[in-house]
Amino acid sequence: MTYQVIKSALKLCSGARKGGDPCNGTLYTCKACGASGCKQSREGLCTDQAFDVLEHCLKCGAIGQAEPVAAGDYTPHQSWVA
Ligand SMILES: [Zn+2]
Ligand SMILES: [Zn+2]
Repeated sequence: MTYQVIKSALKLCSGARKGGDPCNGTLYTCKACGASGCKQSREGLCTDQAFDVLEHCLKCGAIGQAEPVAAGDYTPHQSWVA
């Protein structure tokens, strides 16, 4: 059922883990540079990894700027443009 993909509000990491398995980890966005990717315990565990366990952005180097991108955290659209 491909319907499942459309229905899912969760944003999941589309990268691949080191062993080739799909990541499907929670996506985080860097509030400093806008990069998005998953958070892994160590660097280089996923092709789309953006943060390590200390929320250190691998793209711009900011620390603690990782914001989870998950369905429960979605802010209504009006709030974003206000
Ligand atoms: Zn990932
Ligand atoms: Zn960043």
